[in-house]
Amino acid sequence: MNRLAVSFVLFSTLSSVGVLPAATLTPDKISAAVADRQDFQSPDGVQLTGWIGGRIAASEANRLVKIDTDRLLEGYRKRPGRQAWDGEHIGKWLHAATLAWVYTGDMNLRRKLDDAVVELMKCQLADGYLGTYLPQDRWTEWDVWAHKYNLLGLLTYMRYTGNTAPLGTCRRMADLLCHDLGDGPGQRDIITAGSQHYGMASTSVLEPMVLLYRLTGEQRYLDFCRYIQRAWEQPNGPHLLSHLLARDGVNHVGNGKGYEMLSCLNGALELYRTTGERALLDAAVNAWQDIVDHRLYLTGAATAGELFHQDGNMPNVGDVGETCVTVTWLQLNAQLLRLTGEARYAEQIEHVVTNQLFGAQRPDGAAWGYYVQMEGKKPYSDTLDGHCCLSSGPRGVALIPTFAISTDAAGIVVNLYDAGTARLALRDGSAVAISTETSYPADGRIRITVNPTASGTFGVKLRVPAWCREFTLQVAGEKVQPQFATDGYVLIERRWQPGDQIELNLKLEARIIAGDHGNDGRVAVLYGPLVLAIDTALLGAYGQNIGAVALASADPGSLKITPEPAPATLRLWSGAQVYRLHAIIRQSNDGFTKDTPMDIRLVTFADAGCNGSLYRVWLPLAGTPRQNLLREGRTSRSGPWGRTRYDGSFNDGDPASIADTFENKPATEAWFAVTLMEPTVVRRLVFVHGHTDHDGGWFVTEKGKPRVQVMAARGGTWETVGELKDYPDTTATVAGKLKDGARFECLFPSPLNVIAVRVTGVPASGDNPGQAFATCAELEAYQDGSNR
Ligand SMILES: [Zn+2]
Repeated sequence: MNRLAVSFVLFSTLSSVGVLPAATLTPDKISAAVADRQDFQSPDGVQLTGWIGGRIAASEANRLVKIDTDRLLEGYRKRPGRQAWDGEHIGKWLHAATLAWVYTGDMNLRRKLDDAVVELMKCQLADGYLGTYLPQDRWTEWDVWAHKYNLLGLLTYMRYTGNTAPLGTCRRMADLLCHDLGDGPGQRDIITAGSQHYGMASTSVLEPMVLLYRLTGEQRYLDFCRYIQRAWEQPNGPHLLSHLLARDGVNHVGNGKGYEMLSCLNGALELYRTTGERALLDAAVNAWQDIVDHRLYLTGAATAGELFHQDGNMPNVGDVGETCVTVTWLQLNAQLLRLTGEARYAEQIEHVVTNQLFGAQRPDGAAWGYYVQMEGKKPYSDTLDGHCCLSSGPRGVALIPTFAISTDAAGIVVNLYDAGTARLALRDGSAVAISTETSYPADGRIRITVNPTASGTFGVKLRVPAWCREFTLQVAGEKVQPQFATDGYVLIERRWQPGDQIELNLKLEARIIAGDHGNDGRVAVLYGPLVLAIDTALLGAYGQNIGAVALASADPGSLKITPEPAPATLRLWSGAQVYRLHAIIRQSNDGFTKDTPMDIRLVTFADAGCNGSLYRVWLPLAGTPRQNLLREGRTSRSGPWGRTRYDGSFNDGDPASIADTFENKPATEAWFAVTLMEPTVVRRLVFVHGHTDHDGGWFVTEKGKPRVQVMAARGGTWETVGELKDYPDTTATVAGKLKDGARFECLFPSPLNVIAVRVTGVPASGDNPGQAFATCAELEAYQDGSNR
């Protein structure tokens, strides 16, 4: 089969060049303008049987097969459905379940897919509408979005099953979008057609519209994609391309909403593949670089409150790490890997899959977490209501077999190491089977047996992770001096005989990462590719006080970090490990701190908290003086959801990063609060003023100084325990003697056991009486009574 003539681009992160799946693939009418550097595989050509394979199997068996498709279709059968974006789930499931069926060949799942597709098609209205809204509410919120997922799901299904029955349904959906939305007379603006997030939700329909254009060759679908590009740059649009091409941070694109923006970028890359317009690739690469450099959590998570924020504003908790963002980030990396062939994208894929994605999936595959944060409890849920992430997580998992091993112009590319097999067709048409024996990531030894049908000359590319400082490589029993190619892979080019073996030995070792900003004075521990976490389930008697555990040093050698087999409760696969190290327990009593040395065990972030216990990635270094107790907490404030004027954090230890309540409308109260993970004794509170602006930013004291309030138990009421008595006298228009960064302290009459604290007052309006807001640089709380 000719690779270019049949440009199998099934959806954003999958091509199936070379290996035919169980059924006939539907070919595209329009060839891609940009040839892929790596040919992703049809899932049936790859079988993974190690740790990664186990997670894929669990997702299929315990989530995708068991789904109640009547629940997925409910909002279509009885419009408007139970909530605004309930319509997205069926398309997301069709996408994941089709891939899972190709991977497993499970006929139960295939029957379920066939039935669901027929039932979904029945729900389409005569004019082509296939959303969950009533006629008067069409194109106002999330129904362009639902059309996106229905198109993606049905296109994937058609490609892999060869059953083109839904093609008419897809065309009618697309035709309706082209008719109703546009910048022509009588058409609706797509940016306001889904009022969410500067139109980034609705315009993410780009991805399936590109795919449908390539499948059908209909020019009007490409015209619609061009319209979306124009709409992005409208005054009310997100300015997606212009901002990214100017190398603005992704936090400046639209409102910085992660899931929708990354979805748009995945569509932009599909359009790049189709048209070759270089700016689309450049914009996506700039976004990728900005995220990697400034906005990616240690585990591969991104976003807090679902948004990208300014540099350094990366709280450990506060709706951190939406799983939909994790999956679209994975897809972005997969698209870039496929298009450019550069190992750095595969590096990110390994990292996000083995840490954040698996950390969000309950190990049995049946449930997923929505926000999977750097500490807390894993919020697993298997209820679709309000849980966009529950149908996103399995999409990410189902994609893994498509890129674990791929082919390229040189031959074979190994991107992920897991035990298993692959049947590959090289670009010259020759067939090669690969089998991998390893218990990676528990062990760095990887043996790959290369089995060409007949001996032949080609390359095998191995990815040596960036964290790996030492490795050895043998081919057919002989030591090889590794050569890194410009794409970042080690290339072994030779004449391969059936049965030739590659022995790659990656030295797994511990690394300590020093935190910054909010995690200043803390460290995180990694072992090989895996981020580790402390888990109360492994702390025995000290499990009640996770905050008492500290590390004595940031030197991996002196911490003596040693892997050992996981105890029974965490033995989730044959190689499961925990990691022993020297720690200290800090106990504070009446202002005296006693440090007791003790060995503890850490667990992988993927498995941390899987039985409902508390976990934490960032651990304090002992000897860090006077810890601000609120650094552990979750911030909230009055004012709008999402980005505000300064968009900073007020518990990150960085007074230059300022939070505010600016909403450009009047307000009579403004507050800044921190909620702690567990009840904590607090003696005094410090409020650091942010920035005095011409139009506000401070508290008005005419009716009293800003008040300090505490909450004793979760869900309780706020109780005033004091005020910022040194806060200067101000009015709504005059900030008086207030200086930026000034600190104000409130000493409580006695130590209080609290779950949350806040400072509240009347916000000032400055020279614009049409609004009012306050600012806060830091909120701090301490157990001791003195600042000296
Ligand atoms: Zn989500």
